[in-house]
Amino acid sequence: MTTLIIAEHNNQTLNPATLHAVTAAAKLGDVHILVAGHQAEAVANQAKTVAHVSKVLSSDAPHFAHAQAEEIAPLIVSMAKNYRHIAASATAFGKNLMPRVAALLDVSQISDLSEVVDETTFVRAIYAGNAFETVSCQDEHIVLTIRATAFEAAQATGSDAVIEIVVPTAAQNLSQFIREELMQSERPELTQAKVVVAGGRALQSEEHFNQIIHPLADALGAAIGASRAAVDAGFVPNDSQVGQTGKVVAPQLYIAVGISGAIQHVAGMQDSKVIVAINKDPDAAIFKVADFGLVADLNTAVPELINALKAL
Ligand code: FAD
Repeated sequence: MTTLIIAEHNNQTLNPATLHAVTAAAKLGDVHILVAGHQAEAVANQAKTVAHVSKVLSSDAPHFAHAQAEEIAPLIVSMAKNYRHIAASATAFGKNLMPRVAALLDVSQISDLSEVVDETTFVRAIYAGNAFETVSCQDEHIVLTIRATAFEAAQATGSDAVIEIVVPTAAQNLSQFIREELMQSERPELTQAKVVVAGGRALQSEEHFNQIIHPLADALGAAIGASRAAVDAGFVPNDSQVGQTGKVVAPQLYIAVGISGAIQHVAGMQDSKVIVAINKDPDAAIFKVADFGLVADLNTAVPELINALKAL
């Protein structure tokens, strides 16, 4: 049984989330990767060396340049007869694309799966990660999005798969790419970082967030995350949001500063290996998931922590 994984990329680099999806797909058997893009040969060359991948399907067209679901979905559907399982990672890319693929194939989608039981049975989180359901699907095609944090990344090198050219489907012109605004940051990417320092509403302003959270993140080489309240208040851009409607992270260390621990936030960080919480309220829900909790005012505790780290 062969699974088709849809590669997430920017025409130059394969997004690491795809490597996690490959590991999940490998539990079902052989893996093919579709690289739909424009002048994305570098991505196809990266995909061919990924462990478990036996074939890279490369389709090049100007209308595939910006990963618009309206353009890529028909290509995937045109290839679907060869695959029962079609999957992408449950990132913004996969969440945007795969429902359209499922709808065009007239099958239901299994979203955000965290375990592959067998070829028709999957486990996925529901109720913001508070319960897990086991789903069985007998559809002719099984369309999946895969929770990256639930699977190790496949080895990026070592394989040597064949690259096959796929004739692109015609441009749909249902949507138009206007521009993209990418955050330039020296910091690690939030979903890939080993350490995440996240701040909540308690930081009170963008300026104060930067004064408190950034030096701690610098001291630890960490990515910066935030609660939705902090994002909604404009302290940080919304791609920093961790949680049910933000990003799902599972770093080695997650430090939650002035975050209450609402279930929607916890849904995005509860798989972190070690969770540290700093909150002045001893009854804050975050302490229920924290491995280490500090009941303290963040305005004194965080600078003290930074000084202690600098003294190491
Ligand atoms: P608050 O709940 O206001 O908590 C602030 C905390 O800071 C409190 O615990 C307080 O004791 C502490 N504090 C205050 N001052 C200090 C100080 N000086 N020192 C130390 N501690 C201090 N939220 C997310 O985060 N991510 C999501 O993806 C998300 N998705 C959602 C989806 C839905 C459908 C809904 C309904 C909600 C969602 N939310 C999400 C919102 C969520 O329910 C909470 O409202 C939000 O997480 C609260 O953010 P917070 O903890 O920063 O703020």
